[in-house]
Amino acid sequence: MKPTVYFTDPTAHARRSLLDKLSDLFDRSGGPEIFQRGDKVCIKVHFGEEGNTSYLRPAYARLLVNKLKDLGAEPFLTDSNTLYRGSRHTTEDHLITARNHGFTEENIGAPIVIADEFVEIEGSSIGSRPVWVARVALEADSLLIITHVTGHVVFGYAGALKNVSMGLASQAGKQVMHSDLKPLVKEEKCVACGTCRDYCPVNAIAQEGEAKAKINHLRCIGCGECIAVCPVGAIPILWKTETALISPKSAAYAHAVMAEKKGKSLFVNLLIDIAPDCDCCDWSDPAFVPDQGILVSHDIVAVDQAAVDLLQKAPLIPGSITVRKSLQVSKKKIPSSVSSQFTSLPRVKDKFKTLFGVEVEPFLREAEKAGLGTRKYEIKTLS
Ligand code: SF4
Ligand code: SF4
Repeated sequence: MKPTVYFTDPTAHARRSLLDKLSDLFDRSGGPEIFQRGDKVCIKVHFGEEGNTSYLRPAYARLLVNKLKDLGAEPFLTDSNTLYRGSRHTTEDHLITARNHGFTEENIGAPIVIADEFVEIEGSSIGSRPVWVARVALEADSLLIITHVTGHVVFGYAGALKNVSMGLASQAGKQVMHSDLKPLVKEEKCVACGTCRDYCPVNAIAQEGEAKAKINHLRCIGCGECIAVCPVGAIPILWKTETALISPKSAAYAHAVMAEKKGKSLFVNLLIDIAPDCDCCDWSDPAFVPDQGILVSHDIVAVDQAAVDLLQKAPLIPGSITVRKSLQVSKKKIPSSVSSQFTSLPRVKDKFKTLFGVEVEPFLREAEKAGLGTRKYEIKTLS
């Protein structure tokens, strides 16, 4: 039987806000049966990197915390520290960033716990490298995964699977997942701006004066940051092999987190403020498609597949990066004003390929293969 993905569109009015709709989605999708009185519920969120302005709004987390507390459960919010040296690299900084973005116990109604202790999962490994995942997630009775869906430079999209796999892995685990990506600079395209060098978290890029950037592969941890920040696309991902390599590793991490949580997990995908880059970035480019609404399911693969399907079908937003990039690809002149793009919107078959040159299917396929869920689903729409 196909799993059900519950959906509501983003429309709201005076007597029915999006929070009311989310509350109903939680009830209809089995929330009251999954989360029991006394359960320690690990709510995995992403607090957003400092500088990012489109991260998850605390109001959604607060509502779900209240729902869980009404059921007698004991929720807490968590995320793990990042591999790169940004505003969430250490527990201390991470808590400050969470607070600055409105995630405090006082505001949310549940403790904020940074996942900085990890447990090695017996029987799981990537090659010879062990798999380490967050202790707070493993020791919790159940998981509520709240994901702000965006684009993503490596996976194409960032949904529940990425939130669980990367988001609950140790820093070393994040490195293992990323480390097959060793980008190269296309010298003929590089304009020697130095942006990649400034953003590289491990100083693996040399660039001085007019000289083209050079990446030291012995140092590179494959985080993909330089690919995301290069303003002229001079550092492409070798996606045919690289996305194919990272996907099974990430699926293995997600499996390690979820293995003991069958029937004890719920996934909430918020397709609101859908920025092209994920919330790990310290900026937010305008949304590339309009708000699509909210998806909730007990199946992590189904909920992500449904999100991807919605994003692929959604219209483009004039002025957004998808429009700019697709016009570049088709070598058409980019209209100088956003309003004139309304009359000349390009047709884009695969938004993720246009945005990042990657396909989203490998990650979903690998997750399905790992037994995490199924790509076939049934949608039930709540008005
Ligand atoms: S992927 Fe780029 S930014 Fe990341 S470590 Fe390697 S060279 Fe540095
Ligand atoms: S960001 Fe791009 S253009 Fe700028 S130095 Fe790096 S590779 Fe060259």
